[in-house]
Amino acid sequence: MTDSYRHKGLRRILINSLKNKGIDNENVLSAMMNVPRHFFMAKGFEERAYQDNAFPIAADQTISQPYTVAFQTSLLEPKKGDKILEVGTGSGYQAAVLLELGIKLFTIERQQVLFKSSQILLKKLGYYPYSYYGDGYKGLPTYAPFDKILITAGAVAVPEGLLKQLKIGGIMVVPAGSHHSQDMLKIIKISENEYKTENHGKFVFVPMLKGKE
Ligand code: SAH
Repeated sequence: MTDSYRHKGLRRILINSLKNKGIDNENVLSAMMNVPRHFFMAKGFEERAYQDNAFPIAADQTISQPYTVAFQTSLLEPKKGDKILEVGTGSGYQAAVLLELGIKLFTIERQQVLFKSSQILLKKLGYYPYSYYGDGYKGLPTYAPFDKILITAGAVAVPEGLLKQLKIGGIMVVPAGSHHSQDMLKIIKISENEYKTENHGKFVFVPMLKGKE
């Protein structure tokens, strides 16, 4: 696999379109400029990597739309060195963007095939998250608390158990709602039992499911 001048050119155009759509966090935009999204696409979809759309990956899942990745990442207010838990590794693309930002990343995937393929690909590209195969609803109590938690699948309700794994002052970004559409929630943990929730509008994700595949 190569990252050619043509790929970089297409990526630049995509990043400019994200800016035009309102993404203004320069660190997030430059991290996305550094990650070759075409490496993360399923066979046959590589050509479409720089369109602003979600596409199918293995196990009936999807690689999130670049705008959604940029939006969720911006809501997290990522700072170099933050310890972040991602639920839903999927293709590994969002993980790569967070690692570009200097995040200490823990990521969980419940589909064995994606857990394996993302781990191999990320390593090949020089990205080293702590990857786990399991149910993201359980989080990673051993490594908690986290500065931030990012859920990249649609939950029917806010995963309360995961809020306990968040530091005070920490942020959880979670799309919550029905199977058809979710509200992008940014939840700030103010104290052990107090939270402030902002709603950042409608998005559509594959469902966050319980258990392992
Ligand atoms: N961040 C991914 C998005 C993948 S789509 C990317 O950049 O490609 C969401 C992913 O969440 C899917 O791979 C799905 O299998 C996974 N998922 C759904 N429910 C989960 C759960 N309870 N625990 C861990 N992963 C889950």
